[in-house]
Amino acid sequence: MAAPSQLILPDAVRDAMIGHAQRTPALECCGLLIGIGDELVTVLEACAVRNIATTPQRRFEIDPQEQFRLLRETRGGDLRIVGHYHSHPEGPPEPSAYDRDMAHDPEAVWCIIGLNPPVVEAFVCPDQAIGFVRLPVIARP
Ligand SMILES: [Zn+2]
Repeated sequence: MAAPSQLILPDAVRDAMIGHAQRTPALECCGLLIGIGDELVTVLEACAVRNIATTPQRRFEIDPQEQFRLLRETRGGDLRIVGHYHSHPEGPPEPSAYDRDMAHDPEAVWCIIGLNPPVVEAFVCPDQAIGFVRLPVIARP
């Protein structure tokens, strides 16, 4: 499968991610992105997932049980987990050094939410030696 090169993000999904981040302004929120496509990825749903990191103020770690549950639910269908999102409550919506260390899946879409102002940026890490590349985001009503 080819690495994602563009992301279609419906306004309702973007607003759901921003809303989740705004409800936990002191902690990083996180969730999984359900969608379709490989090079041109369309996100259809943002599923909020518990952040089980020991320092959720600065880190996120997706609850593996919820990830398994979503994997089971999407198995055999057209939809799949295309990536995940998390917020940077204090910092800019850019991947951190920690995020880069965690970027093991070259096909995973990373959405990062900033709160000042509320914004969603998308990235992909096709090669960990190179690091993250920004994914152009196409908004959809
Ligand atoms: Zn981060």
